[in-house]
Amino acid sequence: MSDPTVPDPTITTPPVPADTTPSDGPLGTALGQLDGAIRRLGYDPGMHAMLAAPRREIHVAIPLRRDDGTTELFHGYRVQHNISRGPGKGGLRYHPAVDIDEVRALAMWMTWKCAVVELPYGGAKGGVAIDPRGYTSSELERVTRRYTSEIMPMIGPEHDIMAPDIGTDERTMAWVMDTYSVNRGHTIPAVVTGKPLEVGGSLGRATATSRGVVHATRAALHEAGHELHDVRVAVQGFGKVGGPAATMYADAGARVEAVSDENGAIYRPGGLDMPRLREYVAASGTVVGFDGGDPITNDELLTLDVDVLVPAAVEHVLTADNAADVKARWVVEGANGPTTGEADALLTERGVTVVPDILANAGGVVVSYFEWVQAQQAYWWTEAEIEQKLAERMAHAYAEVSEMARREHVSLRDGALLLSVRRVADAHRIRGLYP
Ligand code: NAD
Repeated sequence: MSDPTVPDPTITTPPVPADTTPSDGPLGTALGQLDGAIRRLGYDPGMHAMLAAPRREIHVAIPLRRDDGTTELFHGYRVQHNISRGPGKGGLRYHPAVDIDEVRALAMWMTWKCAVVELPYGGAKGGVAIDPRGYTSSELERVTRRYTSEIMPMIGPEHDIMAPDIGTDERTMAWVMDTYSVNRGHTIPAVVTGKPLEVGGSLGRATATSRGVVHATRAALHEAGHELHDVRVAVQGFGKVGGPAATMYADAGARVEAVSDENGAIYRPGGLDMPRLREYVAASGTVVGFDGGDPITNDELLTLDVDVLVPAAVEHVLTADNAADVKARWVVEGANGPTTGEADALLTERGVTVVPDILANAGGVVVSYFEWVQAQQAYWWTEAEIEQKLAERMAHAYAEVSEMARREHVSLRDGALLLSVRRVADAHRIRGLYP
């Protein structure tokens, strides 16, 4: 067998399809990251093209009969970026800005993320261009069931497994699982992860991404001789990732001085009272108006004088315009793609340690994998088992990325990309090309 780490000159050079060449948005960032890794690894243009282009994509129209009897049409997507290491794995996003390029970028990041933490998965992502806040629960259920029916040929426990992302939750996953199962004629819990415990969800999944973000932060601080109880933290986004992460930082002794959601941000030097803030958010649905802090903007939050900045909302919030003003020494990417390529270069140049998304927020997909394994075995693990296995995976992945970065004299992001792109390329080479 040929050495999988040596570029294979027999792979010729098909052109990268026009619609996967870099653009300004998240896909441009993702493709730019891949370009950098390919160059360092010395892979030929054929392998580059194979890793840049999604294996499969589907674009579906989703007609919705609204509660008032009118009809609306939405566009939905599912992209399997790479399936060489196992079934596609990735979330389902409901957001008005969803488009095919964003889904492609998110699917590519899932490929690298699953490879960084050594899960037997490829990368996939789905999305529907809808603002879920404008629709009732029964309308969202109909959208979800129709979307699931339309993409049915692409998904399944051995093909492509969904999970929640922005604008979706465990209830959405239960609708996907039910629609898929009813159409297949039997219950198939492993088609989704992040589903409710009552239908085969895993203990510890709901908070796994946040827990992983905190593990990654702890590891990065530890390398520099610091601990969580030494630091001041600002968290952008107070959803499924940012909300629990802020609480966990505070529980670990960090001072969480600022948090935000899409409506605005609040700031209290010395630390916010997290239990009281959570109560306020549970009642009001937003952090804005909380009387235990001063109102600031989301932009101001990003450049506060804190030690650790955790963007945990949307893509491209750290850009060439604000990266020079970031005062945090560590940026831990809870969100996918929060930093543009230019901002990443600026932060690295200034000595800011950026713990990249494909490592920092991998805790969610790790416990999704545990959930899938449990569903396949029809055997359930305790929360303590899940948390211990998650902590081990995150610590191991962080150590491997850090070692790669040190050895190659590159940032943690580039170290994580080198590790993961190589693992995926090795899978391609070892499997060979068919026919
Ligand atoms: P969510 O919908 O639960 O929460 C998103 C939060 O961000 C909300 O508080 C929202 O108000 C806020 N927000 C939206 N736009 C904003 C803006 N412009 N400025 C500031 N805040 C804004 O979504 P989530 O699941 O927490 O996902 C957040 C990020 O984490 C996304 O990038 C997602 O892809 C990534 N991620 C999520 C998971 C997961 O398990 N849910 C796993 C890995 C990565």
